[in-house]
Order: sequence, then structure tokens, then C-alpha cells
Amino acid sequence: MASHGVFIHQFELGPWDNFLYFIGDKASRQVAVVDPAWHAQTILDEAAGLDVEITHILCTHSHFDHVNQVDALLQSMDIPVHMLAAEIEFSGFSCENLVHHSPGDTLRIGDHVEITMMHTPGHTPGSTSYRLRDSIVTGDTLFVQGCGRCDFVGGDPEVMYTTLRLLIDKLPLDTVLYPGHNYGPTVTSTLDKELDNNPYMAFPTLDGFVQHRMDGKTPGSSLPPMPEWSPPKKK
Ligand SMILES: [Zn+2]
Repeated sequence: MASHGVFIHQFELGPWDNFLYFIGDKASRQVAVVDPAWHAQTILDEAAGLDVEITHILCTHSHFDHVNQVDALLQSMDIPVHMLAAEIEFSGFSCENLVHHSPGDTLRIGDHVEITMMHTPGHTPGSTSYRLRDSIVTGDTLFVQGCGRCDFVGGDPEVMYTTLRLLIDKLPLDTVLYPGHNYGPTVTSTLDKELDNNPYMAFPTLDGFVQHRMDGKTPGSSLPPMPEWSPPKKK
């Protein structure tokens, strides 16, 4: 949980080590859920356990491991779903209450907390990072000591290179990083630490980055099929 009245809660769910987030306003206990996937009831239980109210759904991008419980959540709550228009156009994603956004749009959660939608393409054309105060939720753009694959349909390693530079140039280096998967040695990081430790940040040239990111990968490949998954039974 962060300071200054901002509420950030990270939890891991699903067979692919996805991180979900509740981000919002500590005072009103209203939060957005970022990338609801894999098991709606677990998400609802998590919110109930924390005594927070989910008021928005935020999508970093359209891949099914980030959105596959949007419809299920909407069955029990009538709340807006936010995604950049570029991602909706690319993927054909649709659901009830879908709000089409432009880069830089802001959302208000609770009374005090403002979230900015940063367009961070490369993994997909409309990938979005959500910035609030001194933190950023990056989806499959930037991981702890990694970055999102660029070989899936819509991915572009040259665009990813520019996006990673932009994050470093635009944001304070003490910005706390909250990634979309638990792929690193730690569950969060800072941009500063990533500059020092993330191999994808270490390439001085575009060519070197693209070669490394695409090594052994086939451009335009499809996502693996969605596995059946339900959470392990609680003991
Ligand atoms: Zn993805």
C-alpha cells in the first residue's frame, strides 16, 4: 500500500503468473481493478477481504490473460471498462460499458486519485500503462528485469524500444513499477533499478534491442490457446 492516500494492492492469479491490481483512493476505499482475469470470484473475494469497492475496470491491453473475467465481473457490477481506442480497433475487443480512450486521458477514482492513461505500444498497438502519483502499472510493456514479447500479432519491437525510452525520459526515476506478470526476481521495482538491472534497458541501439527481443521468435505468431483454469482449493 502506497502513501498519500493512494491505495495499491497487487495479487497474483492464473496459470501464467498474471498480476492483478486494485488501485484507487484510500479514503473512500473505491478502487479500479486492473486486468481482471482467470477467476471472477477470487477477485470479488479479494475486494471483500480488503473492504474496497470496485468502481472501474482498467485494461492494459486486450490479450485474454488480462481481460477474460471482464464479462463475468460485469454480471455483478454495472461499472465502466476502460481501454485505449487503438487497442479496441486492433483487437475487436468488446464488452458492455466499454469506454474508448485517447492517450493521456485521465480517470478519477474516489475523491482524490487521478489516473493517467499512457499509451505504451510495442507489445500490442494500444497497450496502456496506468500512472497514479509516483507509481505506474505497466501491463505487458515493462516487467521487472524484462519486457513484453513483441512477436505476437500487433507486436512491434521497434515501437517497444521507443516506448521503453519514453518511460525513462518522461517519468521520475523513483517511479514504482507494477508489472503485469510475476516474471522477475521481485514483484515490484523502480525505473531506476530497471535502468541498472533490466537487460532490455541496456541496449544503446535499436538494432541490438530488436535482435535480442526477437531472438528465436516468429513475428506475427498467435497467443497460445487459453488454458482451462480454476484456482486451487483453499485449505
Ligand atoms: Zn499480453
